[in-house]
Amino acid sequence: MKSLDALISAAVDHLAATRNAVALTGAGISIESGIPAFRGKGGLWERFDPMEIAHIDALVRDPARVWKLLVKDLKEIMDRAAPNDGHKGLARLEQLGILQTVITQNVDGLHQMAGNTDVIEFHGSFAWQRCMQCGRRVETRAVDASVLPPRCACGGVLRPDAVFFGEMIPPMALWRSQETTAACEVMLVVGTSAIVQPAASMPLIAKENGAVVIEINPEATPLTGVVSDILIPGKAGDIMNRILAQLENAR
Ligand code: NAD
Ligand code: ZN
Repeated sequence: MKSLDALISAAVDHLAATRNAVALTGAGISIESGIPAFRGKGGLWERFDPMEIAHIDALVRDPARVWKLLVKDLKEIMDRAAPNDGHKGLARLEQLGILQTVITQNVDGLHQMAGNTDVIEFHGSFAWQRCMQCGRRVETRAVDASVLPPRCACGGVLRPDAVFFGEMIPPMALWRSQETTAACEVMLVVGTSAIVQPAASMPLIAKENGAVVIEINPEATPLTGVVSDILIPGKAGDIMNRILAQLENAR
């Protein structure tokens, strides 16, 4: 097995040679910002089944329950969260002219906050709430969550402008993700268990179109050794720092 240094050097060589890398990120990249993932240690799975509570049917049936168990806590955590070295590293890769686009499954807005300018929000955004009746959008920060579920001026229930299980991926996000993925030369897959579809098929599309696929994740995923060329085992912040130190050194 290759050493961590050798894996990082290999990733740096691929990144230094391209001006068209794309990143696919998942909940793992935001764990170091204090936002729990679904799966893995400390994940929300340990408390309840996200497929049930984050399903559109649960929201329609009992919005107060979904707000109480899931949305309110996430709002409090996300209102406070700031980008970590993983997000900042991807922003620096864009500044260096290497990374073009971030496709994220996260709804926390941290990539934009870190400075990436082309972020495809595959699962929508938690920064906004949408009225289930009139469609009006309200900033999540401005929502008073002391009475649940919070309501719009029209009386309709406010819901996160994010994609729940059982809902469609916004067509524009899906289309653009497929386009940028098919055209990229290197795909960085950071902090995703690569289980939730159709996001998990992006690395496959990249691979089939000749890209090098590099995973950053403390654990192996279904992509590892099958679709990805390299798995760099470790936390997003630490590994991104090491990659950037080597890249900037080489310039
Ligand atoms: P996931 O919860 O299924 O998997 C998280 C992955 O991150 C795991 O493979 C784990 O090994 C890895 N990981 C753990 N710590 C890490 C670290 N420090 N650095 C890098 N990787 C680390 O996440 P998923 O694949 O994104 O799928 C879950 C779905 O839940 C997504 O579709 C997303 O929309 C949603 N979600 C979003 C947020 C958020 O916006 N921050 C949080 C929870 C869930
Ligand atoms: Zn309304």
